[in-house]
Amino acid sequence: MKEKESALVCFSGGQDSTTCLYWAIENFASVHTVCFSYGQKHSQEIEVARAIAQKANVSFEVLDVSLISQLADNSLTNPTIAMDETKPEDSLPNTFVPGRNMVFLTFVAIMARTKGIRNIVTGVSETDFSGYPDCRDTFIRSLNVTLNLAMEEHFILHTPLMWLDKSEVWELSDQLGIFELVQNETLTCYNGIPAQGCGKCPACELRQSGLESYLNKKTNI
Ligand code: ZN
Repeated sequence: MKEKESALVCFSGGQDSTTCLYWAIENFASVHTVCFSYGQKHSQEIEVARAIAQKANVSFEVLDVSLISQLADNSLTNPTIAMDETKPEDSLPNTFVPGRNMVFLTFVAIMARTKGIRNIVTGVSETDFSGYPDCRDTFIRSLNVTLNLAMEEHFILHTPLMWLDKSEVWELSDQLGIFELVQNETLTCYNGIPAQGCGKCPACELRQSGLESYLNKKTNI
């Protein structure tokens, strides 16, 4: 039975957040989405997200958080920086935006509070994480406590993908009945190409190898 509560989903139109969106639709009576605009190189990401939200019949808002790009240089927003194709051995990849999840989730919590919503859903995952510290479960739990203390609230940060690898994310999308939607309409590629993407960037490689391993698993059952 669905909880009678509402949830606010951090939504970018990618594979992970689309799976989270439909997970939320399955688990909550009313679902809202918020998409971040932070000067990403590929702004069609927002239009992809808008189209999926419309299809899912949930509300969709864009939040301008572009100030984060003023503070920190990174390859997702700065066109003069080439994106790291692999993770450097001794540092974080240059796709890392310091503090991004902390800032974004804080804004989302403020927005949720205004709407009277305490459930916040985010697609971060510790399993395939590229070394991003703010995708870890410890960080999310810590921020959950901090947000509750900061606003005297009882927020619950839900991370349905935290312990899933990409193959299991595909499996979840299949269980939710959105396998084809994820395959054909989401945008995960760092080069801004929807669906299968460029096939070369780290995001595409992860998505593709996860898909192959899920399809293998499925045919072997
Ligand atoms: Zn790509």
